[in-house]
Amino acid sequence: MTLYEDNKLYIRNTLTRKKELFSALNPPNVGLYVCGPTVYGDPHLGHARPAVTFDLLYRYLRFLGYKVRYVRNITDVGHLESDADEGEDKILKKARLEQLEPMEVVQHYTNRYHKAMEMLNVLPPSIEPRASGHIIEQQVMAETILNNGYAYEVNGSLYFDVLKYHKEHNYGKLSGRILEDLISNARQLDTQDEKRNSVDFALWKKAGPAHIMRWPSKWGEGFPGWHLECSAMSRKYLGEKFDIHGGGTDLLFPHHECEIAQSVAATGREAVRYWMHNNMVTINGQKMGKSLGNFITLEDLFTGKHELLEKAYSPMTIRFFMLQAHYGGTLDFSNQALAAAERGLARLMAAAEVLDKLKPGEGGGFDAGAFEKDAFDAMNDDLGSPVLIAHLFESARFINSAYTGGGSLPQTELEKLRSVFRMFVFDVLGLAAEKKETGNLTSKLVDLLLNIRMEVKKKKDYELSDRIRNELASFGITVKDRKDGFDWEIS
Ligand code: ZN
Repeated sequence: MTLYEDNKLYIRNTLTRKKELFSALNPPNVGLYVCGPTVYGDPHLGHARPAVTFDLLYRYLRFLGYKVRYVRNITDVGHLESDADEGEDKILKKARLEQLEPMEVVQHYTNRYHKAMEMLNVLPPSIEPRASGHIIEQQVMAETILNNGYAYEVNGSLYFDVLKYHKEHNYGKLSGRILEDLISNARQLDTQDEKRNSVDFALWKKAGPAHIMRWPSKWGEGFPGWHLECSAMSRKYLGEKFDIHGGGTDLLFPHHECEIAQSVAATGREAVRYWMHNNMVTINGQKMGKSLGNFITLEDLFTGKHELLEKAYSPMTIRFFMLQAHYGGTLDFSNQALAAAERGLARLMAAAEVLDKLKPGEGGGFDAGAFEKDAFDAMNDDLGSPVLIAHLFESARFINSAYTGGGSLPQTELEKLRSVFRMFVFDVLGLAAEKKETGNLTSKLVDLLLNIRMEVKKKKDYELSDRIRNELASFGITVKDRKDGFDWEIS
């Protein structure tokens, strides 16, 4: 018996709105697809939450003995400013503003995303396909949908016929939207509009003369609609039917609703067996948005350089903070909550450290077998990381008191406690010990040195001032002098 046969994992399926017993289509293999970022800006909290949520799922499935093929895409073309297929392509807009090639924008922000995910100890996916690398697959799928009668062509663009689809199927079944409401709430189509109905969505869009991201097709030069990439790439790497599709609740509509429609229209059946959605992040109770001034990037959090932040919070603090809440609930960021997470994480890590030093004894007071069962039960109940963490805190209390002479465990019990504690803290939750305050301490020391250098310069001791700068450079720290101070960065 492997762990996954022993354990009954229940996950809440967004489609049925019920917790369902997870059974893999083809055990021990599991196909997992998660919508990744559209790479046109710095990674922020809205990127971290789905990444950490599905990292927890990925880690737990692997921990149970499944072989998981985890596909998380990079959207690098086709995601327009408005979900209604209008506005500029987000990547193209950024490229125009920064006077860069679109693929330079994509590479830059993909690198930044990867770096941030690594800092959060998010495991890389098995495959990370890009939309622009799968144009042919998307064209083939669009053509199949067209041939099956669920799309129409207008002036070089292809649109999905939602009304036609809805006659036989249920458009809105995932998000709970009612098609009639969508139609009556939508703005009236103007005469220039190519769509038959405002709810229709683009499978392929004709590229205007200024649109540089363009590919030849049967329908003329153009680019794929945003929703098509995930249908085409999940099908390519996971097959026509696969186990789990994840993403944030912001993607439920229209993105995932359209994915279902596309798969059914192309293959006659739904591709996904379990849909899972992580909830959103709020900041001090408010939705995060650039216009609200509360848009916090992960780098802001790691460095503390944002006016809403009282200090820097380490990547592990951010990860632990996210895991302390269930993925299905909204998560509110505040300095107070982050500081509490920081203290909680420190308590767990301190327990992990002294756990190695505990000596077996005659005493009792802790049931390691029950602890193991509680830990599995928590995770099996729709990835109940907050409940798991509560059990870990209980065990940490015992570990600390045993360390100071307040209890002991016989050898076998102690070994069980050690292995269960470590497996769940490090393997399942993906927490890692951070060198305490090192980042902060380094910053403080460099700032101290450079402040001294400024004073030295005022006294015109250029020899010493240059020596400080050059020696810092030899450690990879670049100093840039400004009129009133200095900037520095570690390369
Ligand atoms: Zn997607």
